[in-house]
Amino acid sequence: MGELEIVKHVKYILTVEKKKDDFESVVMEHLRLNGAYWGLTTLDILQKLDTVDVNEVVSWIMECQHESGGFGGNIGHDPHVLYTLSAIQVLALFDKIDVLDIDKVADYISSLQNEDGSFSGDIWGEIDTRFSYIAICSLALLHRLDKINVEKAVEYIVSCKNLDGGFGCTPGGESHAGQIFCCVGALAITGSLHHIDKDLLGWWLCERQVKSGGLNGRPEKLPDVCYSWWVLSSLIMIDRVHWIDKGKLVNFILDCQDKENGGISDRPNDAVDVFHTYFGIAGLSLLEYRGLKPIDPAYALPVDVVNRIFLRK
Ligand SMILES: [Zn+2]
Repeated sequence: MGELEIVKHVKYILTVEKKKDDFESVVMEHLRLNGAYWGLTTLDILQKLDTVDVNEVVSWIMECQHESGGFGGNIGHDPHVLYTLSAIQVLALFDKIDVLDIDKVADYISSLQNEDGSFSGDIWGEIDTRFSYIAICSLALLHRLDKINVEKAVEYIVSCKNLDGGFGCTPGGESHAGQIFCCVGALAITGSLHHIDKDLLGWWLCERQVKSGGLNGRPEKLPDVCYSWWVLSSLIMIDRVHWIDKGKLVNFILDCQDKENGGISDRPNDAVDVFHTYFGIAGLSLLEYRGLKPIDPAYALPVDVVNRIFLRK
């Protein structure tokens, strides 16, 4: 426990898995676009984004774009909304969204909306409320929400609401914290939070805190640092974050640090990875831990980045 090892985490991100010294090459070869988003957003929250070569990252991202307008996880990979949102988010971190042909990207995303308002993740058609969030978040960041039927998109998400107040991936699907973040985030971005029973959902979410202070994703599951993000951000969006013990959660996340080499794991004493390092530090940012940039709970980007996008237009 103790302090957040900021210097060590920066070093960890910059030398991920110690495979190479050069951050960009590691991101490019091993972690792909999602990894770039986790690593670079972590650096930005730690106020160290200036340690990376912007032009190298931006030109690599643009090489991941497919002719359809969507992005693949790496150069030559098939496009999917998952990677398309990461591409937009990373470009947003560097204030480089203008390198995109915005309408082309927005047309790719809007082409994935189905008749019932739901979204497919790619041309193969798997449907999930995660993809609804990704489409809505991406289009909002591009100022192109008008390209989809927002009303139907919201209707579909609301049709995935359960009696416990949570949300599943499709209608009738079990409530899960990751899915709840996606649905609450999409409703927040579209100004539709009135569809949520905040007390009921807030109760389900705060029940995710276990004895150690950590949060789990569903009843009877082990706590995991990544749920610090999904549960906390949802509680903040519905204004119920004071229902959990924040101090105990901070201690749980700090307990998951590798204090020697940097990085954060899912649970104390497990192996660290970039995914949990990002969610741990993003969680601490939501908990207003000192020295960290505040992060926006709906867009999963630093607040100053989100403000730059929305105050400009
Ligand atoms: Zn996890």
